[in-house]
Amino acid sequence: MEGNRSLMAVDPGDMLWKIKGLTRSIIGDLCTGHCPTISVDRFRNYCKKNSNLICGCSPDYCEGKSNLTFGRACQARQINFLLRVLLIIQQLLQEKKHGSKRDIYYMYPSLFSAQSVVDRAINDLCIILDCSRHNLNVVSVGKGLVMGWLRFTEAGSWYDCMNNLNAAHSVPVHVEKVDDILSMAQYILVVEKESVFQRLANDRFCSRNHCIVITGRGYPDVPTRRFLRLLFETLHLPTFCLVDCDPFGFDILTTYRFGSQQMAQEAKLLCNPEIRWLGAFPSDFEKYRLPEESLLPLTENDERKIKAMLGRCYLQREVPGWRSELELMLQRRVKFEIEALSVQSISFLCQEYIPSKIDEVREWDSSSHSQSPFTTYLLSQQAASTHT
Ligand SMILES: [Zn+2]
Repeated sequence: MEGNRSLMAVDPGDMLWKIKGLTRSIIGDLCTGHCPTISVDRFRNYCKKNSNLICGCSPDYCEGKSNLTFGRACQARQINFLLRVLLIIQQLLQEKKHGSKRDIYYMYPSLFSAQSVVDRAINDLCIILDCSRHNLNVVSVGKGLVMGWLRFTEAGSWYDCMNNLNAAHSVPVHVEKVDDILSMAQYILVVEKESVFQRLANDRFCSRNHCIVITGRGYPDVPTRRFLRLLFETLHLPTFCLVDCDPFGFDILTTYRFGSQQMAQEAKLLCNPEIRWLGAFPSDFEKYRLPEESLLPLTENDERKIKAMLGRCYLQREVPGWRSELELMLQRRVKFEIEALSVQSISFLCQEYIPSKIDEVREWDSSSHSQSPFTTYLLSQQAASTHT
């Protein structure tokens, strides 16, 4: 834990010194008649090899460099964006202020033309300056929520979720300033959607179960993933993830566990390798006797997304059981939302589904089975169908 925390903390003076070094080298090249080159390492989180061969993908793996020069028009434009964003960041650091990616975009909207231009420049600057986004005083507008058996400080102010166990608190934006984490929880439950988080709050899930519940409200932002990672590193609690049984749910699950391709260079700080997939699985449909009406057909877009995800090397290498469930989703060509589990009773999710899933994982952990319960279930289904 110490290693990662120290990676997170960089003195603003050191950052300004690094920025000066970069601009000085560009000016030096220009003064001596050389064409300046900025080289950016390229990282990737996964490839599409999908085999047992070692492909070398890991959060630390740098697959090459892009060299930006003024010699080519498109690269010169990219350098212009980089330097413009760098100038804004330098001002933020000098004035000890923070800004969001959106704030930066609105400083020169006609120059940047799209938010993605700013996002890419910030990512590249993090690689060039070997730092994280928050070291540049660029913050996300936090959208994550947390509740349950947890207490911590952010920049000296207390957040006491235990005062009201079923009330939502915003995930802190300045995760690097979070300290004094105290908890009486037995596990952390990550849910994909706010509606499910709200269902759990209404059913007083945290009062009845000693746990912490977090949601990133869809694709999780950086503070939510870093906060989850920090909780895991500090508390060492089992961490479970509950997502919709559809390609987006699965992609969100992999974002929590492996990080995203867009921010591959920071995946090692943002991923949560111990996160377990609690549900909903394609195989839950029979197991919990869901009515046919709760199933939705996969769209063409869904099928394309699933096929692309099946090719990601880390699934085969690290979580083949997850990959089997994803294949099953594609075979059956149906999906369903977590809310579909509430058809029998509104409290089914809180009182039966989640507790039974957690028991299942714990039983599996305490037994010597090498397969997950989901794989075992899947194989028994396949065996049954070949016997008939
Ligand atoms: Zn790979």
